[in-house]
Amino acid sequence: MINKLLPTTIIGSYPKPKWFTKVKSIHEKGKFGEEKMEEAENDACKVIIDEHEICGIDVLNDGEMRRTEMVEHFASKIPGFKFYGPVRVWGNNYFNKPSVTRELKDPGPMLVDEFKFIKKHSDENNYIKMPITGPYTIADWSFNEIYSRKELIMRLADIINSEIKRLADAGVKCIQLDEPALSTHPSEVDLVKEATSKVFDNVKLDKKIIHACYGKFDQIYPEILDFEVDQFSLEFANNNFEFLDIFKENEFTKELGLGCIDVHKSEVESVSDIENNINRGLNIVPPEKLWINPDCGMKLLPRKSAYLKLKNMVKATNIVREEIE
Ligand SMILES: [Zn+2]
Repeated sequence: MINKLLPTTIIGSYPKPKWFTKVKSIHEKGKFGEEKMEEAENDACKVIIDEHEICGIDVLNDGEMRRTEMVEHFASKIPGFKFYGPVRVWGNNYFNKPSVTRELKDPGPMLVDEFKFIKKHSDENNYIKMPITGPYTIADWSFNEIYSRKELIMRLADIINSEIKRLADAGVKCIQLDEPALSTHPSEVDLVKEATSKVFDNVKLDKKIIHACYGKFDQIYPEILDFEVDQFSLEFANNNFEFLDIFKENEFTKELGLGCIDVHKSEVESVSDIENNINRGLNIVPPEKLWINPDCGMKLLPRKSAYLKLKNMVKATNIVREEIE
C-alpha cells in the first residue's frame, strides 16, 4: 500500500528510445534474432524504469516498452482475433484494427513476465501499477463477426479477469484498467459498469483504477461513481479543466487521478502551472484521495519533453505536499 500523500504516477505508455524503435523495425523484417530482440527489449525497459525513478515518480511501470498499440497488443495475444490490415482512423493515421472471427480463448499469462521484470529492476520501495486495456475499449475498437456487442464485451471481461487473477497471484497490488472508449458512448455506461465488475470479480488488490480520456465526462457523471473501483484517473489538462465544476456539483466520492500534464503538446508546463492544476484537483477531493499523473499515455511526445514534463510534475507535487503537510 502506498502511504505517501499525492502519489505521482504515469498512465502507461512512454516514448520509446530511438535506438529501440530502430531495432524493432529491423526485427520486424526478420533481420534481428529473437534472443537479441529480447535483450534489446529488456534494456529498453531498464532505461525507462531508471528514467522514471530519476524523475521521482512514486507509482511506476516500464512505459509499456514491450507493447505496441493498446488494443492491438492484447488482440494479437488472444486467440480468436484476426488482423486484416490497417484501417484509416483520422487524417493519415492508420490503426491495425483487429477482428473477432472465432470464439475468443484465454491465452494464459499476457503481462505476468512484464510485471516480474519491472519488480526485479525497480527500487523495492516503489509501488508498481499495471495498466491493462479494458474489455469495453478492446470490443469497441474491433470488428466483431460472431458475438453480440454485449457478449463480446463480457467474454473479454472474463479473459481479463483471469489475467488479473494471475497478476494478483504474482504480487500485483494495483491495476489500471484503460477504458478511453468509456466517455465516447455515454448511453453504454451501465454496460461498462457491468463489465468492470466482472473484470475485478473475486480479485484481491489494494487499488482498482479506471483510466478514461477523450473528455465528455459531463455525460457519464455522476453515474461512474457507482463503478466498483477505487479511483478514476482522468484527462483534465488538455480540455483546460472544463469539467471541473461537474465534479463539484455531485461530491466526487472516489479517489481522483488528476491529469495535470497535457500529452498532446510538447511544450513543457512550468512548475507553477502544474502547481495550480494540482490545487484545482484539491478543490474536488481532499489530499488523501488525490493522485498526480499526466492526462494520458505519453508515447507520442518527444522523449526529452516527456522527461521534463514528469520532472516538473514531481517538483510541483513536492511543493504542494509541503504546503499541506
Ligand atoms: Zn488515455
